[in-house]
Amino acid sequence: MTSRRKFLKAASAAYPLSFLAPLSSNSQEIYSAPTIFKRDYFKEIGVTPFINAAGNYSAFGGARMRPEVAEAIRYGTYNKAKVDDLHDAVGKRIAELAEADAAMVTSGATSAMVLATAACMTMGAKDKIEQLPDTAGLKDQVIIQKNHRYTYDRALIAAGAKLVEVADEDELRDAIGPKTAMMFWLLANHNPAGDNITMDRFLTVAKEHDIPTFLDGATMTPPASNVVDACKLGFDLVGFSGGKGIRGPYSAGLLLGKKDMVAYSRANSSPNSRSIGRGMKVAPEEYIGMMVAFETALQINEPEDFKRKRAVFGRISDQLTDVPSLKSTVIIDEGMVNEMYLDLEWDQSRVNISIDDFIEELKNGTPSIRIRILKFSGGRVHISSTVLAEGQEIIVGKRINEILMSRA
Ligand SMILES: *Cc1c(COP(=O)(O)O)cnc(C)c1O
Repeated sequence: MTSRRKFLKAASAAYPLSFLAPLSSNSQEIYSAPTIFKRDYFKEIGVTPFINAAGNYSAFGGARMRPEVAEAIRYGTYNKAKVDDLHDAVGKRIAELAEADAAMVTSGATSAMVLATAACMTMGAKDKIEQLPDTAGLKDQVIIQKNHRYTYDRALIAAGAKLVEVADEDELRDAIGPKTAMMFWLLANHNPAGDNITMDRFLTVAKEHDIPTFLDGATMTPPASNVVDACKLGFDLVGFSGGKGIRGPYSAGLLLGKKDMVAYSRANSSPNSRSIGRGMKVAPEEYIGMMVAFETALQINEPEDFKRKRAVFGRISDQLTDVPSLKSTVIIDEGMVNEMYLDLEWDQSRVNISIDDFIEELKNGTPSIRIRILKFSGGRVHISSTVLAEGQEIIVGKRINEILMSRA
């Protein structure tokens, strides 16, 4: 089976029913207990920390790096090397892991988009690289499907390019011209608008006209193997977030693809002082951290990880058995990204609190606990365990019990 088929098919693949088996609390925790820190910096400066039961959102501090990643970062802060040499070697290792021609570490998926666009506009020409964001005389149009317009597409114009929207293949063919620099594709788990042009047709048309293509797969992890699969789809460049599902450094990202295109992207970035991307610096320790995060994420056994998360949810549910009418159900967000949530539901005539008030009370309590209502959850209470540290689930369960029982 080709990875491409598997990856595309995954969007509709349901998880086996065995995953919906009853909660068990005896699964092994794979995370070490939080270190006892010498200083409490947040306290010193008056920042209120919260327990993140929402998930790895940027505004909530992103993912929790795995211990292997924190260790790699510590190593990187101590051992110094020439940044370009380090980046060459890290890029080579990441490319091997992703089965891609080449790879680089970017400052987030957003920078991957800026640098990819800059690369497509300049194609390695030093004078053009130094000219951006002025695009006079350059190919500077990025073609995007109307349905793929989204919050982050600003990154596509940050280097000076202009967006050209197309709704179908006829418009796509009409839009292609001497100014076309790149064709952009957004890969999303839940794209309600859908694609008017299929990925196959999009890539075929791009190849016919020899136009470089870029895919934003920022959120399409876990599993990390989606990065490997995305590299086989046929795009010249693909970008991913490092600080979301891969659990790398918050500010890191990955840009992978054809050797020359990755090299052109790097030419537009730090440490090249005359580049548009000079401010998108990645710390040397983050190169190492991102590499180790990807390596570690690829080794995660998904069913095992789900088992562990199910056990975490089990320990929350165990605290809630006396709440009248409360139903707690583990649900799986099906799609290319497989994530698991604990869904809570109660009869508001028996436990008299609205969902909004519940979220507010969790936030304002001690300790503060944050959850978020996700669009796909249709306004339901969904708890995520991906950023919880070991033991925090007990505190979460106890607080939820307190709040709901006070209104029962
Ligand atoms: C989060 C996100 C980005 C930006 O990623 P960063 O790594 O935070 O820069 C880009 N595209 C999509 C689809 C995202 O969800």
